[in-house]
Amino acid sequence: MLPDHAADPLTRDLLAFIEAAPTPYHAVTEVAARLLLRGFRRVSERDAWQLGPGDRGFVVRGGGSIAAFRMGRRAPADAGFVIIGAHTDSPNLRLKPHAELSAHGYEQLSVEVYGGVLLSTWLDRDLGLAGRVVLEDGTSHLVRLPGAFCRVPNLAIHLERDVNTAGLKLNAQTHLLPVAGFELPAAGLQLRERLAAFVGEGIDPKVIRGTDLCLFDTQPPALGGARAELIFSARLDNLTSCHAALSALLAAGDADATRVVVLYDHEEVGSESAIGAGSQFLESVLSRLSACYPQTSDGFARAMAGSLLVSADMAHALHPNYPDKHDKQHRPLLGKGPVLKINVNQRYATDGPTAARFRAACARVGVEPQHFVARNDMGCGSTIGPIAAAGLGLRTVDVGGPMLSMHSCREMAASADVPVMIRVLTSLFDHFEPLDPAA
Ligand SMILES: [Zn+2]
Repeated sequence: MLPDHAADPLTRDLLAFIEAAPTPYHAVTEVAARLLLRGFRRVSERDAWQLGPGDRGFVVRGGGSIAAFRMGRRAPADAGFVIIGAHTDSPNLRLKPHAELSAHGYEQLSVEVYGGVLLSTWLDRDLGLAGRVVLEDGTSHLVRLPGAFCRVPNLAIHLERDVNTAGLKLNAQTHLLPVAGFELPAAGLQLRERLAAFVGEGIDPKVIRGTDLCLFDTQPPALGGARAELIFSARLDNLTSCHAALSALLAAGDADATRVVVLYDHEEVGSESAIGAGSQFLESVLSRLSACYPQTSDGFARAMAGSLLVSADMAHALHPNYPDKHDKQHRPLLGKGPVLKINVNQRYATDGPTAARFRAACARVGVEPQHFVARNDMGCGSTIGPIAAAGLGLRTVDVGGPMLSMHSCREMAASADVPVMIRVLTSLFDHFEPLDPAA
């Protein structure tokens, strides 16, 4: 009988999760909704936190970052924190404030490039418009205009005959302006009017005081391949890891340690922001959770000394058409399970003891982790792992699911890897002993 990965509910759930999350703000809202359904309580950073053993909650910062937690039976000073971190943002095109422009009879949009976009992949895609608008009363509203709002058309090959051999060279200022229709003098695209109408009937466009608007691929995530063994989707980096971390937190049983999932915005642009991994968001959450237990003044320091951060972000699988791009001994394959990411120059924060923790979790669910180490003659990406590790002194392991086409408008991964990673992360949450800080 042919294997049917499509039957795995966790893989199907991932597709639904990604479809619900065209922007970081939608991702955080979807995570929050799922947490509320499962009895987690929303807390504000502005309130005094009065929580105790067994309590479950979450806190949102800036609309794009969220931390969810399950308080342990014992104080973090004794039992430690186990934290899984990932990022909610993906490289994309975003609207500039004065986005509407007319040229040569077309209505177009002025965009800014967010993160390391693989620009060519955004051409000839049916692009939707989503994000958030802030009204004069201070309220923030998610928006997602219906349909495919615009498209960045390729130039016909007849007008650039050598593009396949010379390579496609794109000027990010002049070549990426999406076309959203024909020029209508005195009318324009009426973007503010459309956004106001989406927020609610009778909303005056003039009360929109701020916007964060992204373009996204409107094609829904799909299973593909001859046996549905593949996933074709936008934003697999890194909504796959957000979904895995959240699913593990929901699946885990009660434990002595306090379990935390932190999902950050702004990873793709370096994490240096008030809500990114370079901020003190996680430190603030952990210290406040720690302070909810009776403890001595060094309780938080003791908690941090025994805690583990699992930085979950997608990993580069071997590309069959470019096998030379990988180190021969360290080239992960799609469908072969979780990847441990190692870089001695600390682009990844993994070391021997933290790798051993992850390997033990893999062993408990019956899988062997793959390894990724970049070639010495090529650069290496990075993650929130080293940033959080350095900022907090948190022992960290960098891991991720294997994928292809990273940072493309539409990426690719394997169906079978989805439930396996969730099981491994659940096991990490369920079986934790504080680390030996000296080791
Ligand atoms: Zn990533």
